Amino acid sequence: MLEKLSSILKKTTDKIANAIFLDKNLVDSIVKDLQRALLEADVNVSLVLELTKKIKQAALDERIKGIEKKEHIIKLLHDELVALLGTSREIKLGKHNVFLMVGLYGSGKTTTISKLALYYAKRGVKVCALGLDVHRPAASEQLKQLCDSLNVKCFISPDEKSPKKIWNKFKDELKEYQLVIVDTAGRHSLDNDLISEIKEISKFTNPTETILVIPADIGQAAKSQASAFKKATSLSGIIITRMDSTAKAGGALTACAEVKAPVLFIGTGEKPADLETFNPESFLSRLLGMGDLKALMEKIHSAMSKEDIEKSQARIREGKFTMKEFETQLETMSGLGSIDKLISLIPGLSSAKIPEEAMEKQQDKIKHWKAAIKSFTPEEIENPEILEKQTSRIQRIAKGSGTTTSDVRALVKQYKIIKEMIKSQSGIEEGKLDQKTMLKLAKKFSKKIKF
Ligand code: GDP
Ligand code: MG
Repeated sequence: MLEKLSSILKKTTDKIANAIFLDKNLVDSIVKDLQRALLEADVNVSLVLELTKKIKQAALDERIKGIEKKEHIIKLLHDELVALLGTSREIKLGKHNVFLMVGLYGSGKTTTISKLALYYAKRGVKVCALGLDVHRPAASEQLKQLCDSLNVKCFISPDEKSPKKIWNKFKDELKEYQLVIVDTAGRHSLDNDLISEIKEISKFTNPTETILVIPADIGQAAKSQASAFKKATSLSGIIITRMDSTAKAGGALTACAEVKAPVLFIGTGEKPADLETFNPESFLSRLLGMGDLKALMEKIHSAMSKEDIEKSQARIREGKFTMKEFETQLETMSGLGSIDKLISLIPGLSSAKIPEEAMEKQQDKIKHWKAAIKSFTPEEIENPEILEKQTSRIQRIAKGSGTTTSDVRALVKQYKIIKEMIKSQSGIEEGKLDQKTMLKLAKKFSKKIKF
């Protein structure tokens, strides 16, 4: 479900959590990724722009700094996305309940009724279905078959063309059920005919919930459909079906939020068990692959301690970058499991592309490097360049750490590359680098770095 959006959101929060400097370039790239992902999920353009504008403003707000800024942005992103997804409403069942299911042809009403019946039956509710879709001959049979397979009582009268007559025929029996779910006929579009039919059925069924069924694949178009049904009926909520089979689900969800119609459930597959209650907060948690906002905040703190970040920033700003700083970076890199954390150390380089396979290889190297650094003398830590001229030192380190001389040489080379990059930027204030320099550096960096 919404895999692409999910993966971009995860990446975005990772980028924020792991960046040492939230400079303009990094923010730009995050905002761009977010926009693309949300638009691909069919979220309305103006909603997307509004959201990303807020993120950008917060990111470039000079008053908040360091880790607080990251927390602020993650929280903002989280809250804005939750708001975008709408509010939740849980149905509270009374003694006797009638759900009137409405929607256009093929939206998934009948399938969803069987899903709801199973959902409530599992929770000990005495539930039945009633077929009032009198327009299509096979409609009531379809409902009956689905219910039979679930051992749910289903009332139909296939030859009767008047919904009211069918209701009257069964109404005494229906009173014995705590929940009656009523199937109705759809149309190709919401026309006056359909409205008056729903109104008529509402009068005698007296529903406790009138639920609109909308397929996720219509995306943003859900907005006009939901608002039209809301105007014409006393809509109490929406069920979005086919969440599993479209990339446009984001559009359908946010559209319902826009017209303030709560999404009660989502359909996530064709089988009767493929129904989930909808809650914006937990839905977002799932997209982000995290437990909740607290877990996200912990991610920021565990990525690097506040002191680590501040120390690194301070030393790097002063132009100091010894093997000690490089080691700290290696620590965080292996802690986080990837080299792109090192890249996020350098403002603007966060967009440098590194293939996944190469990253795994890099992991092994990092292990060797960390071992090798342990065999450095204090002099070598302060000034790793001396190794270049003295092969005996390299041999000593390799021997002492159980690595090879080429490991040690590669380590020194990496260190020098990073140092050179940092030197070429020293004295430049956070966020003040221009895009051109950044691009140049990024190119240079990705060319030079060897895996
Ligand atoms: P109705 O005309 O509104 O009663 O729609 P139906 O219940 O007959 O469903 C139309 C089609 O949508 C059927 O082929 C269902 O199997 C399919 N469908 C309904 N809900 C879902 C869902 O959540 N996921 C998927 N993949 N298909 C669904
Ligand atoms: Mg149907």
